[in-house]
Amino acid sequence: MDKKLFTMTKKGKHRTNNINIVILPVIVLIILFISAYTPDIPVKEKWVIVIDPGHGGRDPGATGSFSYEKNVVLPVALKMGEYLEQGINNVKVIYTRKSDIYVDLNERAEIANRNKADLFISIHANLIQGRNAYGAETYVMGHTKDDQNLEVAMKENAVITLDKNYSTNYEGFDPNSPESYIMFTLMQNAFAEQSTDLAARMQNEYKNRIKRYDRGVKQAPFWVLWKTTMPSVLTEIGFISHVNEEKYLNSKAGQDSLAVALFRACRDYVADIERKSSVSTVKPAEPAAVVPSETDPDITGKTFFMVQIATSSKKIEIKPGSFKNLGEITEIITGNRYRYATGKFEDYSKAVAYRKEVERIYADAFVIAVKNNKILPLQEALDSNKSKSK
Ligand SMILES: [Zn+2]
Repeated sequence: MDKKLFTMTKKGKHRTNNINIVILPVIVLIILFISAYTPDIPVKEKWVIVIDPGHGGRDPGATGSFSYEKNVVLPVALKMGEYLEQGINNVKVIYTRKSDIYVDLNERAEIANRNKADLFISIHANLIQGRNAYGAETYVMGHTKDDQNLEVAMKENAVITLDKNYSTNYEGFDPNSPESYIMFTLMQNAFAEQSTDLAARMQNEYKNRIKRYDRGVKQAPFWVLWKTTMPSVLTEIGFISHVNEEKYLNSKAGQDSLAVALFRACRDYVADIERKSSVSTVKPAEPAAVVPSETDPDITGKTFFMVQIATSSKKIEIKPGSFKNLGEITEIITGNRYRYATGKFEDYSKAVAYRKEVERIYADAFVIAVKNNKILPLQEALDSNKSKSK
């Protein structure tokens, strides 16, 4: 069990490890006892991830000074897939193409839909003529008022016109006509939140892990994203029109770094969903099952306010990087559920202020009152604090 479990945060003082030595075995026993009576949550049998290397065959995509988009995105896609197969146990990776062949946009989306994919990741490289743009950006399906974003989508959608029958196959959609894009303004993206989550992870990896310039998560009406019926993103891994970036995109090291970044983003997304699948935000009501040792001065008597971020019927291992790096996480066991909270304040208003920060990461976070490692009704805690301060 993590030593951090009972270390203090913020205003509190640090406790000695001696106390942990007393409490931890007690907690472990209780957890073992409870988990024996907790039914298993079904874990997803298989994650199906469709990787879509843009363009191919007669469609070269963007053209740099010495290379084509289709040829730089393919090795990144294939490597990313390899890493996914190594890094996620229950994954099935499907590629829309594994070689230099032409696949039309509808078929790319259909491959994902037919296979009931959980994720669709389209990999492209960018080009802006006459402008020295560089960096990586990731798109989710959506309407945009930003001309540059629309320009990227129009350019990627334009491959539709390589289909002889595009006017009938694409519902009359003309990728080169801005009027055609009006149809997307009424669209609701059911997967916007998950897609954006994955896109943000990708941008974070680009920026922090492999030091690419972060152009952010954007929305634009990409046909291939529109046609897919699962969380989907289109990532532009760099500008083939930029002298240095074209070299990077064509280098083995660059391609490998990009594949690692994309893999890590996906792996963490999957891990997070799996964790959340056994998570709900039930308001604390039932009494706590844990009776901690009386010898611990910090969990006898004092009421603290914490921010609950998750509950689970299964124990979640607390380790660096879990819970989105929220710092000190405390596990509180109530009934047959594990609750996870962050922050520890004697002052309720400070906990509320902290919740507002946490809310950006965990939208459903809320303040709980904790005494003796049990959750108290919030009102009771507030009332007792008031009477004490009188
Ligand atoms: Zn492209």
